[in-house]
Amino acid sequence: MRKELPVSANARSVVSRLQKAGFETYIVGGAIRDMLMGRTPKDFDISTAATPEEVRQVFGRRSSRIIGKRFRLAHVYCGKELFEVATFRRAPEKNGQAQDGESPGNLIVSDNVFGSSSEDAARRDFTVNALFYDPEKREIKDFTGQGLGDIEKGVVRAIGDPALRFEEDPVRLLRALKLVGQYDFSLDSATENALFAKLPLFELASPSRRTLELEKILQSGYGDRQLEAFHDYGLLALFLPRLDRVWDSPTGGRVRELLFERNCRMEEGCFRNSLSLAAAVICLPFVEEALGRAPGSLWEPGNGAEETVEEVVDTVFLPQNLMVRVREAARRILGLVPLMAMRGERMERRIYSSRSYGHARELMCILQAVAEGDASECERFWPELPPARPPRGRKMRGRF
Ligand code: ATP
Ligand code: MG
Repeated sequence: MRKELPVSANARSVVSRLQKAGFETYIVGGAIRDMLMGRTPKDFDISTAATPEEVRQVFGRRSSRIIGKRFRLAHVYCGKELFEVATFRRAPEKNGQAQDGESPGNLIVSDNVFGSSSEDAARRDFTVNALFYDPEKREIKDFTGQGLGDIEKGVVRAIGDPALRFEEDPVRLLRALKLVGQYDFSLDSATENALFAKLPLFELASPSRRTLELEKILQSGYGDRQLEAFHDYGLLALFLPRLDRVWDSPTGGRVRELLFERNCRMEEGCFRNSLSLAAAVICLPFVEEALGRAPGSLWEPGNGAEETVEEVVDTVFLPQNLMVRVREAARRILGLVPLMAMRGERMERRIYSSRSYGHARELMCILQAVAEGDASECERFWPELPPARPPRGRKMRGRF
């Protein structure tokens, strides 16, 4: 199908240079899906017939490098943008002869055999994720024959046998439901049946890839809806069991409310997509609960509050392992919240000198918006950047 999609000039230039060097090349994956849905893609992934070494020859050593040990791909820098350029792959063989990349059973442990563009589409997870776009010809290639229709209908459909695809890689269980939450898509019935049947396999999914998906969910502006979809389908109990247990309680309700508010503000462009802020937002209601505070009433500093914050931040996301620096930042943000809520003059030096001040300010605004329907007073009171020298003798206006 021919269609003009709003591809960035840099992405277009990377594709065009590879094509001019004689390599079939496309923009692939989530970016095409997002543009067809009228959303702005967060990045453009590129797939090409060129091997990583050939990509490096085209762009030179200064603008590209090869990364990954088993799944080798090239990073290409163009302007201020970084592009992942992957060579077309085909699915590993499963006939018991060429066992490259296969462990016993159907689980794929490596995915590294080069192939053609149509083979590359076939090894992808869902039809809506398997669209290839040639920005020079303005042409969308729908190798599965169902991707464009499924985007139109709002359907998540596994490519091939859904049960087998979930067995090969149980992270796909989560990826299917991410699409349901993100776009309000529904699962095609065969994919849905297979998902229910294969849900227990999620425990086998690679811990590092599960954590990577968690980070993407927290950073995105629709994590609240994705977590809701996980809960509806029974995946949240396996992914974030502690959050799942409270989901329908006042604590869970407050998590959802705060995350929703943060996401709205992010979509309006008020906030950056901070992982540590999202982690702090999710943890805050757990801290309130652990300290015996009613939702929305925060807590006072001291009396073991710091230890409670630490315990909550370290355990809420288990069995996923959020990076230590993200957990540390979330702890700092949550440590500042009660100080900021008190609005005591003596606190200002500590508040403004913290490197998490910006995020703590955003969390305070989220809290005020949820409590009062409007955060403008908080936004005025706390400057976006800390003053060079904390003001002295400023009158604090009560406790929010
Ligand atoms: P997002 O907007 O979250 O980045 P995405 O679809 O681009 O969504 P990525 O993780 O960036 O997700 O993956 C890029 C593409 O790689 C996907 O669109 C899909 O075609 C393919 N892909 C990713 N993970 C898998 C998987 N587990 N199995 C098969 N194909 C996958
Ligand atoms: Mg992507």
